[in-house]
Amino acid sequence: MVPVKYIFVTGGVTSSLGKGIISASLAKLLQARGYLVTIQKLDPYINVDPGTLNPYEHGECYVTEDGAETDLDLGHYERFLSIPTTQANNVTTGRIYQSVINKERRGDYLGKTVQVIPHITDEIKRRIKLLGGRNKFDFVITEIGGTVGDIESLPYIEAVRQLKWELGDRNVLNIHLTLVPYLHASGELKTKPTQHSVKMLLENGVQPNILVLRTEHELGDEIRKKVALFCNVEAESVIQSIDVNTIYQVPILMQQEGLDVTILKKMGMEVGPAPDLAPWKQFLKRLQNPKYSVKISLVGKYVELPDAYISINESLKHAGAMNDCRVCIDYIHSENITEENYRDLLAGHDGILVAPGFGDRGIEGKILAAKYARENNVPFFGICLGLQCAVVEFARNVLNLDKAHSTEMALKTPHPVIDLMEEQKGVTEKGGTMRLGAYPCHIRKGTKTYEAYGANEISERHRHRYEFNNMYLEAFENAGMISAGTNPDTSLVEIMEIKTHKWFIGVQFHPEYNSTVLKPHPLFVDFIKSTISCI
Ligand code: GLN
Repeated sequence: MVPVKYIFVTGGVTSSLGKGIISASLAKLLQARGYLVTIQKLDPYINVDPGTLNPYEHGECYVTEDGAETDLDLGHYERFLSIPTTQANNVTTGRIYQSVINKERRGDYLGKTVQVIPHITDEIKRRIKLLGGRNKFDFVITEIGGTVGDIESLPYIEAVRQLKWELGDRNVLNIHLTLVPYLHASGELKTKPTQHSVKMLLENGVQPNILVLRTEHELGDEIRKKVALFCNVEAESVIQSIDVNTIYQVPILMQQEGLDVTILKKMGMEVGPAPDLAPWKQFLKRLQNPKYSVKISLVGKYVELPDAYISINESLKHAGAMNDCRVCIDYIHSENITEENYRDLLAGHDGILVAPGFGDRGIEGKILAAKYARENNVPFFGICLGLQCAVVEFARNVLNLDKAHSTEMALKTPHPVIDLMEEQKGVTEKGGTMRLGAYPCHIRKGTKTYEAYGANEISERHRHRYEFNNMYLEAFENAGMISAGTNPDTSLVEIMEIKTHKWFIGVQFHPEYNSTVLKPHPLFVDFIKSTISCI
C-alpha cells in the first residue's frame, strides 16, 4: 500500500496571502486526478475553538456536520472539494494544550516533566497523523496558520521538521507561500523578503520543497531562477500565484503553473494526463460573464468585515452563477436602520437577506428589514437570527402581539415567540453549548421550500440556542406564516414561510455552510431565481 502523503502549507513575510485558497486549490487538482484528499488547519491561538471569538477578530465561525466550531478556512475547503470536514480538520494550540494538560492530570506522563518538546509536538503530530491513519485519504494537506517567525507557530514548524525526518521527503513535503512585493518607485519586484522568510524556516530546520510566490505582476524567468538559487529549490518548484479577480480562478492558475505535477513527481507518484476541470470552468464562465444582475441587501451587524459573512457571500455567488446572474451585495448595518429611514434604505433592492447573529445590538433594524420585505412583497431570506426576527415582526404586526420578542433580547417579554429550549435553560458556559452541527429536517409538501429542495428529508447545520416557540404555531399558521420544515425527532420548527408572499423563507439552520461551487444550495439558488423575476 502507498503510504499517506502529507503536505504542509506554511506562510511567510505577511499574513493574508491566501494559504487556505492555495491549499484548497491544490486539493482540488489532486481530487480531480482521482485522489482522496483532505485538508486540515492548525491554528496557533490559545482559544480551544473559534466559537467564542468575535467575528470582528477572526471572521466567520464555520460549523462542520459533526458540530465543530472551526476556522473559516474549512469553509473554503468544503466549497472547493464538496466533501465534509470534521472536528479533526481544525486544531488549535488551545486544544493541543488542553489534551496534554488533561493527560498530565490523569498521570499519563508517569511523573515526567511535561514540555513543549516532546509532549506538545507529539500531540501536534498525533493530530496530523490521525487524519492520515484512517486509511481514507491519499493526501493530507495541513495548513499552518500564522506566519513563520511567530513565537506561536514554532512548535508546529518543529512538528513539520520531525515528520519530514521521520517519514522522508517522498512522504512529507513543505510548500511555503511568500510575497514578492512590487516597488512602484523603482518599478521592480523584490525577492529579499522571500529569501529572509526561507532563511527563517531553515533556522527552524525546515527546507521548503516548493515556493509559491504571491505577486501583483508576472514573475519573469530571471526572478524564478534567482529565488530557486538563493532558496535552494529547483526552478520548477518556484510557482507564481498572481492576483486574480476571484478565488475560484486559483485552481486553474495552479494547474497552469504545474503545482500538482511538481508535487506528484516529488512524492514519487504517477503523473497521468491533466484533468480538464470542465464543470469548474463552466462555473467560472457563468460567474464572470452573467446574463442578469441583481442587488441584494445583506442586513447584519458585522458588515464592516466581509469575512464575517463569508459563507453567505460565497453561497450567493454560487447561486448567482447557477442562475447566470451577478449578485451585487449591498451591506446594510442593522444599527443604521430606523423606523424613519427603513423604506428609503431598503428600496431598490431585488431581495433582502437578514443575517445570523447574537445579542440585541441592531435587532430592531433587522426586524424592520423583515417588515419591509413582508409588506412590499420583496423576496426575503432570513437565516437563523434572520428567521427569528421575521417571526418577531410577524407576531408584533400581524398577530398584534405588541411586545413579542425573543427571550434572548427581552427576558420578560409577554410573548416569547422565540425562546430557549428546556435543556438549554441551566447552561451557563458559553463555548460549545449551542445546538451545533447537522440535524435532520422534514419538509412539508406543497410549500415553496419543498419546491426549492425537491426533497422531503434534508439535513442542515445549526449554531444557535433559541427556537421558535411551538405554543404560538397555530396562531402563526392561521395568519399565513406556516412551518415548512420540522425536526422529525423533536418537532422543533426549522423553517417558516409566508404562503401568499412571492418568496419569504426563514430558516433556523445555516444553509450557507452547505453550499459548494459544484453543488450550490437549493434555497440560495431559488432565492436568487425569485429576485431575478423581480427585475
Ligand atoms: N442568537 C440566536 C440564537 O442563539 C441566533 C443565532 C444565529 O443566528 N446563529 O438562537
